[in-house]
Amino acid sequence: MPFTSLGLSPALVRAVARQAYLEPTAIQVQAIPAILQGRDVLATAQTGSGKTAAFALALLQQLETAPIDSPRRPLALVLVPTRELCAQVGQEISGLAKSLQRAVKTAVVYGGVSINPQMLALRGGADVVVATPGRLIDLLGHNALTLQYINALVLDEADRMLDLGFAEELEKILAQLPRDRQNLFLSATFPASVQALAERLLRNPTRIAIAVEPQTAPAITQRALAVDPSRRTQLLRHLIEQNGWSRVLVFVATQHAAEMLAGKLRKAQIGAEPFHGALTQGKRTQVLADFKASRLRVMVATDMAARGLDIAQLPVVVNFDLPRSATDYTHRIGRTGRAGESGTALSFVSADTEGHFRLIEKRQRIQAILEQIPGFEPVEAATQPAAAQETAGSDRGTGGIKGKRRSKKDKLRAAGLGFDPL
Ligand code: AMP
Repeated sequence: MPFTSLGLSPALVRAVARQAYLEPTAIQVQAIPAILQGRDVLATAQTGSGKTAAFALALLQQLETAPIDSPRRPLALVLVPTRELCAQVGQEISGLAKSLQRAVKTAVVYGGVSINPQMLALRGGADVVVATPGRLIDLLGHNALTLQYINALVLDEADRMLDLGFAEELEKILAQLPRDRQNLFLSATFPASVQALAERLLRNPTRIAIAVEPQTAPAITQRALAVDPSRRTQLLRHLIEQNGWSRVLVFVATQHAAEMLAGKLRKAQIGAEPFHGALTQGKRTQVLADFKASRLRVMVATDMAARGLDIAQLPVVVNFDLPRSATDYTHRIGRTGRAGESGTALSFVSADTEGHFRLIEKRQRIQAILEQIPGFEPVEAATQPAAAQETAGSDRGTGGIKGKRRSKKDKLRAAGLGFDPL
């Protein structure tokens, strides 16, 4: 189906052509006409499905004919869980908006950087605000913007937003929005908490479920490699060298592990940098830019990087430590095989983490054979009985099982200290 069949204006059809999008993705086909009709939308959408362009195009079409007030008042609000996603969504909206005759001003605001430039940027007003919840609340506290005129709210990666403990911030923001508005709700997964939020927010929504994202998911080959925890670094080096991988994203459980592993790889003459929440924003931006430009071979990341990053042609993702939940697994492996490219996701599994991996497998509805790589056959037996593994939260590979133990950050967020984590 061509983009012209979706009801998009000629300027926006030109915009997608400029981006070299040949035809709309499944979510774009379903969401764009519904949004243009003013319907609320509830979409099961994963990164890589083209979800950002789906809502961005429809929102831009609505803005195309909106009068320009002086100063501009935000008409659309996009809430996202992480700074990286915030920057990417902002870029995508601005890129698509270039073809419009009416200038659309997009403000991108997130925490972890100085608030002053963001306040200055908002002084002249904005049509679209893309924000992480914590920083948006700070800015509202400074009267840097008003949400009174918002026509459309997008909640992107709603599950991640709740996972990160943003429920309270969301409530504060929702309380400042006009009742009469369009709501677009996107989430990769729908646990009970997300469903409850959706039910409360949405009015007779158009439901869109791109069950297992047809464009990308089948293109991801998921493999599990059996290896003893102590030999994982060597196995990783072996795989990088044997396969000649030019770029690989490696996930670990903790910031410390990211630092350690990157250091070990560098010692072995493999270009590697850690990527996690304790780095300065400048450092993170630089590492990501180097990785995207193939100046950096290995990026060793915590789950902070698992969402929202859009890195073209990333052939391999390695779960050096397993993720805490099946949801995080989905997001991690979604970093490869994006927009129709093929990719491989490798998970290192030890005797101690096998039970946890099987659980992820079950929730993912996949079955991976536990492969052994010659020279790296595991010899260690499980240190705990299989039944205990799921709740033990072992630090030897899973980083703890989601929901069983709250991190310090979670507790701070829950205590409502206005901590803006990302
Ligand atoms: P998203 O799911 O929004 O993170 O998008 C994933 C990637 O798909 C981004 O790099 C987009 O630029 C790209 N994309 C979005 N729509 C299309 C399309 N219709 N055709 C090809 N690529 C697309």
